[in-house]
Amino acid sequence: RLRPSTATAAARFYASASSPHTLLFIEHRGGAIESGSLSALTAASQLGGSVTGIVVGAPDEVEPIVESAKKLKGLSTVLHASSPLYKASLPEAVTPLLKQILESSSYTHVAAAHTTSAKSILPRVAALLDVPAVSDITSVEHDASSGATIFTRPIYAGNAIATVRAPESIPLKFFTVRTTAFDAAAAEGGSAEAKAVDAVEVPDIPTEHIKTTIAKSDRPELGVASRVVSGGRALKDADTFKKTLEPLADVLGAAIGASRAAVDAGYADNSLQVGQTGKVVAPELYMALGISGAIQHLAGMKDSKLIVAVNKDPDAPIFQVADVGLVADLFEVVPELVEKLKK
Ligand code: FAD
Repeated sequence: RLRPSTATAAARFYASASSPHTLLFIEHRGGAIESGSLSALTAASQLGGSVTGIVVGAPDEVEPIVESAKKLKGLSTVLHASSPLYKASLPEAVTPLLKQILESSSYTHVAAAHTTSAKSILPRVAALLDVPAVSDITSVEHDASSGATIFTRPIYAGNAIATVRAPESIPLKFFTVRTTAFDAAAAEGGSAEAKAVDAVEVPDIPTEHIKTTIAKSDRPELGVASRVVSGGRALKDADTFKKTLEPLADVLGAAIGASRAAVDAGYADNSLQVGQTGKVVAPELYMALGISGAIQHLAGMKDSKLIVAVNKDPDAPIFQVADVGLVADLFEVVPELVEKLKK
């Protein structure tokens, strides 16, 4: 249970609202809205009130994003602020803007996808407004009778689920959303109104964005792919990893993932790691090949709809979560599977 005592200072700023009104931080990259923001919109909509989006970026970035955001189903308004200052969405630049917007309005909730950027921005704004923030939520519900918001969120690497109750006396509730727990909101069908907001100048930002390096791949993105083929330490080396998994991923149209052991041993890029300290995925199909199923790996994939495991060891813990398990040598099974799938 979150204690309301910390919220006394903030309570002065916000009018109490009987119906939720959420400010959704919409992220974008390469001219498109990030799919995680669509899942966060679904979560925000489940509160039952209205949802206003905010798009922040450099002047040349914002306009097409606002046009797309206006069509999102579930958004009533799209606020947008553009300035060269917001080019890389540095927390030091965006935080003062959000703080100013929230201080002069009556939002009840602030939401975003649980991304690297939002994980840095939202808690800063919450701290400046002296209200708590709840991270990585997997469900959200507004209790109209008490005015409280009830969240669930995984703890202990997903081995327990905490229920967090934020009472009405907390005037503004911040939360980030585990995107695999919510379907993406429809990208069409909405007709939100757009409103420009002035940028807030921030003198002497202590950090500078130098460059963003994005791993390029022709495959589906791991975090949102509907099929994932993952390899573990059993794959021996980078070359064997590639030669064994790529034909299977190709024939399935799947993204490639890896265990941390495979990443640490240099078989696969860091960006492919699935698990507690990697990406959390929940595809339709997850194939774990030569992965033992350590608790930290399971934390990143156990919500997948169909889990297929191939492991030589019949006692491997991965079989406890697998829907289909094959005790076999993956170097025999995978080529055979590829041939059969091709037919
Ligand atoms: P192993 O445990 O060595 O398993 C290899 C498996 O391959 C074995 O089960 C073996 O039977 C099988 N095998 C061998 N040869 C074959 C073959 N020819 N055919 C079929 N099967 C075969 N791990 C993650 O994955 N993601 C994380 O995010 C993560 N975060 C962590 C965070 C912390 C704080 C800590 C402490 C650990 C974390 N780990 C994470 C590491 C985790 O504990 C395991 O060490 C790791 O997942 C093991 O990877 P693995 O299953 O590939 O290797």
